[in-house]
Amino acid sequence: MPNIVDTSELNARFNALLEDARRNEVILRKFQNFEIALMDCDSPLEFIDLLINKGPVGADWDRMTLILIDPDYEIRRLFEHSGEALDRNPGLIFIESKAPFTRIYQGLYSPVLTPYISGLHEFLFPPASVIPASVALLPLMLKKQLIGSFNIGSVDKDRFNEDASADFLQHMAAVIAVCIDNNVSREHLKYLGLIDNLTGVNNRRFFDQRLIEETARVKRSKTPMSCLFVDVDHFKNINDTYGHQIGDQVLRYIARIIRDQVRTIDIVARYGGEEFTVILPQSTQGKAQEIAERIRHKIAGYQFSSDEVSINLTASIGISTLLPQQCVGDQEAVVKKFVEQADQALYSAKNSGRNRTVCYADLTGNN
Ligand code: GH3
Ligand code: MG
Ligand code: MG
Repeated sequence: MPNIVDTSELNARFNALLEDARRNEVILRKFQNFEIALMDCDSPLEFIDLLINKGPVGADWDRMTLILIDPDYEIRRLFEHSGEALDRNPGLIFIESKAPFTRIYQGLYSPVLTPYISGLHEFLFPPASVIPASVALLPLMLKKQLIGSFNIGSVDKDRFNEDASADFLQHMAAVIAVCIDNNVSREHLKYLGLIDNLTGVNNRRFFDQRLIEETARVKRSKTPMSCLFVDVDHFKNINDTYGHQIGDQVLRYIARIIRDQVRTIDIVARYGGEEFTVILPQSTQGKAQEIAERIRHKIAGYQFSSDEVSINLTASIGISTLLPQQCVGDQEAVVKKFVEQADQALYSAKNSGRNRTVCYADLTGNN
């Protein structure tokens, strides 16, 4: 007579396992989709927005922050250079050393799922409307180094606890770390392509790009912008008299003078040869003239000196100003005209004796 086995308990266990597997499958898919979307981002801003403000669809995370360890301000500068306002993301926090993480990860560098502990976790979640009750803290490791931490907060105190599985989160942390590295490398390459090798200021390509963006801003914000064309006087003589190497040093010196005289929001570029341009956002003609005169005086007032020589330098500067009401019609034409006007003003400064600033509006009697 065959044994009669009670299969109902086995069935129940099997069904529970099946249910677990299904649930895991759903979670896995959710995380996979999120990871693919993270890898697909074209810019740091898009990546950070997705990571901090959105998260995986349906994950129900209440608050996310990303801390990046950036001792030399390198990542910050690169992201800022890409023209995107990082301050729109208060969840992105830069710190200078990994020291604050010693107490959190205790040298293990694997995800920590725990109730929120004020005092210990506050630096990960700066004051905001949502104070988490439990948190998942994911160390971001790259080449065995801690580069930051992605922090997820939930208002549910039981949501993240040490018994929960952290496999998906650990995988996601690895993807996030690689994505950050990619974003930094990509911005670095972009940055190198937009910088003038000799002087370290922006190159003409960057100037052309930014001018289009800044012109759109004039229209949007209804504030004028000005542009300077700065050209060293009789520079050819310097090359002819002292040689190209001294000429190169003079160009570096001039770039530094210009940079030192402008605000951080202004954009200095080497337009070509011994000609520099400065975009002055939110600047009337009067303001631009003031800055231009400051640059001109600095250049004329100091002697360039190297080991071998001392040289008196002067520069001529052309100024054009773009008013919001001039931003009508074809934007490309608006930009082109704006640049041509600065160039014409410079030409006039050269023709009327050099070492002077000329505003385009003063040539024509109107702007
Ligand atoms: P002006 O007062 O009319 O501006 O006269 P200038 O001599 O400054 O102008 P010009 O356009 O006649 O000469 C510019 C010189 O700049 C010629 C070129 O050899 C030199 N130059 C251009 N690029 C570089 C560079 O990267 N390094 C050096 N050393 N010289 C450069
Ligand atoms: Mg010149
Ligand atoms: Mg020139």
